[in-house]
Amino acid sequence: MNLDRLPRFELAQFPTPIHYLKKLTASCQGPDIYMKRDDLTCLGMGGNKTRKLEFLIGQALTDGADTLVTAGGIQSNHCRLTAAAACKAGLACDLVLSGTAPQVPNGNLLLDKIFRARVHFCDREDREKQLVQVADDLRSKGKKPFVIPVGGSNAIGSVGYVTAMAELKPQLAAMDLAPAAIVFASSSGGTQAGLSLGAKITGFAGDILGISIDQVKTGEDAFLPVLESIANETARRIGSDRILTQADFFLNCDYLGAGYAKPGDMEFNAIEALAQQEGILLGPVYTARAMGGLLDLIQKKVFTRDQSVLFWHTGGTPELFAWADRF
Ligand SMILES: *Cc1c(COP(=O)(O)O)cnc(C)c1O
Repeated sequence: MNLDRLPRFELAQFPTPIHYLKKLTASCQGPDIYMKRDDLTCLGMGGNKTRKLEFLIGQALTDGADTLVTAGGIQSNHCRLTAAAACKAGLACDLVLSGTAPQVPNGNLLLDKIFRARVHFCDREDREKQLVQVADDLRSKGKKPFVIPVGGSNAIGSVGYVTAMAELKPQLAAMDLAPAAIVFASSSGGTQAGLSLGAKITGFAGDILGISIDQVKTGEDAFLPVLESIANETARRIGSDRILTQADFFLNCDYLGAGYAKPGDMEFNAIEALAQQEGILLGPVYTARAMGGLLDLIQKKVFTRDQSVLFWHTGGTPELFAWADRF
């Protein structure tokens, strides 16, 4: 494997800590609940995109790019962290955001402005087209754009979550911990693909259980083939001969609620529970949905009291400020 030889640009300090959630565990009367704090990745209010961006920006700099271009929703954590990382790497940043410009920017959008990203608003269905258009316009002006897909979920970015599993292994050993499952919010797939591949490579015995934020398992938009292809392209990129199939991915699609970025009671209850019991903040779109799902699974006795589970906090706390009226 050539993990150490891939271009990488340092954005944060690793390992992120693992915390035991004592009061939450006591209140659930279920498994011991631990949390891996990828909300605490130094850069720009933190989150899971930091790990992917270390490898994406490594590649962008190797390619001689001068501008990062990516896309997402108006409250995209990925776009906010891409804008922050661009500042640190000395690159310009163009963001294609689905939605309309509010009078006063808030949450991640406010941070995008502070990081001086150029924001291009468009309709959700035009986002991919607009991403190509923005990159073409930059090229026609003599710039060298590096296009990052939504969520940074490709074989370059996903490597960041293979290395995250390698980081986790000695941490678990030092804590004498063998979680029955790692539970986390899954959306564009790079995190889950990397964790699942990394679990195989490092011999992690528990389940890698994604709580789907917006993806479905069956039908024409079925997501398992996407996870499979990102994971296998990532394996090729790092020189691993592992091959994953759709059966290697556990994606729970029971907590989609009213849809993407439409948090409801489950999400707001999870935010208040974690804040008031542990002093830890979740974001309404991703981490509160995933934690709400985990708490529901615990209530349904999917895990036993002698087991432990590791919730991988993927960040997203700046989203909170865009839902101020819900508290
Ligand atoms: C992007 C994001 C996720 C999902 O990660 P993917 O790799 O896109 O599946 C989870 N949580 C937060 C806070 C995110 O911003």
